[in-house]
Amino acid sequence: MLWWPDLSPAEAKTSWTWLTSFVEGVLVPRYAVHREVLLPCWREHGDVVDELTMIAGKWREAYTGDTSLPAAAEWLDRWLPGGMRRVREALSAAGCKQHEHKAVYIPRYLAGQTGELGESPTAHMSVCSTATIQG
Ligand SMILES: [Zn+2]
Repeated sequence: MLWWPDLSPAEAKTSWTWLTSFVEGVLVPRYAVHREVLLPCWREHGDVVDELTMIAGKWREAYTGDTSLPAAAEWLDRWLPGGMRRVREALSAAGCKQHEHKAVYIPRYLAGQTGELGESPTAHMSVCSTATIQG
């Protein structure tokens, strides 16, 4: 299991590509019930990134390589709904809404990665036109 703060810049870039591919290629298009939970500003929240990293890692265990029915069942029944419940709670606690991101601490490893992917935190703020910046 990867821990973002310990990754080198190269490792973080590779892992960020893996995570966003999972979110945009699997989670969002396939699991509509969770689509509404994942606000556009999810990348700005380290705790949400950690949850999604866990969800993606458990998905990989269940559906790639040596797959198993119990692993898939556990992912669908436990890891996905549990992780997304915590994502909802984290975004709610931060006060974020669909078009309103409340500024939070952005870990350096996330700020750098989003910048390299062409979506800097500053660019994101322009997307969230009613964004509120707090201390
Ligand atoms: Zn937010």
